[in-house]
Amino acid sequence: MASEHTLYLVATPIGHLDDIGLRAIDVLRQVDVIYAEDTRHSARLLKAHGIDTPLQALHEHNEAARAEAIAQRVLELGDAALISDAGTPLISDPGYRLVGACVSAGVRVSPVPGPSALLAALSGSGLPTDRFTYAGFAPARGAARSDWFEQMSALPHTLVMYESPHRIVDAVEQLQRCCGPERQAVIARELTKRFETFLRGGLHELLLSLLGDADQRRGEFVLVLGAAPKSDGGSSAPLSVDTLVSAIAPHLPPGKAASVVAELAKVPKREAYAKVLALRSDSDI
Ligand code: SAM
Repeated sequence: MASEHTLYLVATPIGHLDDIGLRAIDVLRQVDVIYAEDTRHSARLLKAHGIDTPLQALHEHNEAARAEAIAQRVLELGDAALISDAGTPLISDPGYRLVGACVSAGVRVSPVPGPSALLAALSGSGLPTDRFTYAGFAPARGAARSDWFEQMSALPHTLVMYESPHRIVDAVEQLQRCCGPERQAVIARELTKRFETFLRGGLHELLLSLLGDADQRRGEFVLVLGAAPKSDGGSSAPLSVDTLVSAIAPHLPPGKAASVVAELAKVPKREAYAKVLALRSDSDI
């Protein structure tokens, strides 16, 4: 059964209360019910814009259990809107399961676009915007976290990620470990709010700014990282063990030459050593 009714996905401000579209206000006034992550938080926004539509809680802890029932409710009873605490629903926020349930049930789903911290940060960053990866939040700790930074730092285009205030210093340290101190990055803090700040520069420079000023470690953050530099040998074939041995063996003692070749060619040192000795006996080095 195709629905007459619609679930609207309505973007709300990421800081400045006036950053809400005219259509968003209209839709929020007209729907029967608004599903919100934190009803008390959203009540303030709705009050500021004279919206008195009933609010119900839909958050990460009850979404899976409620998604199908809500989809049925919209199908049978009337339009609803989904909002999150800030920005665009479903972007590092709940809603994916509800939208899935609505799609399966034949309920029309319609976005009312507006603010999102990731696009605000990217657009103001000064880094290339033609291609980017949005990666959400990094894992909170351990090997999962360091592996994640390792992977992200190899991207050949801009990376946009969210980070919490108590992990922002660690995130920049992790990136510096993976990318070196010079890689360009931007920390976008408190976007659209009173203390909105963009810190732009090399990772080491950004780290010093964070460590040197406690205010720069407060608030909400988006981290934008410049692309990994293109490797200059990327398109040519890797050098063979024989080529490396001929280039290196004449200039170093055999053991040392074998270590360098093994390291560069990623072969066992034994194999490199045998080739070094073979070359010496051939050419009488
Ligand atoms: N759905 C939201 C969106 O569209 O941007 C994101 C929700 S996510 C749970 C919240 C994270 O977004 C924050 O921890 C922070 O990293 C980032 N964020 C939200 N508002 C921000 C702001 N005003 N300035 C900087 N970052 C912000």
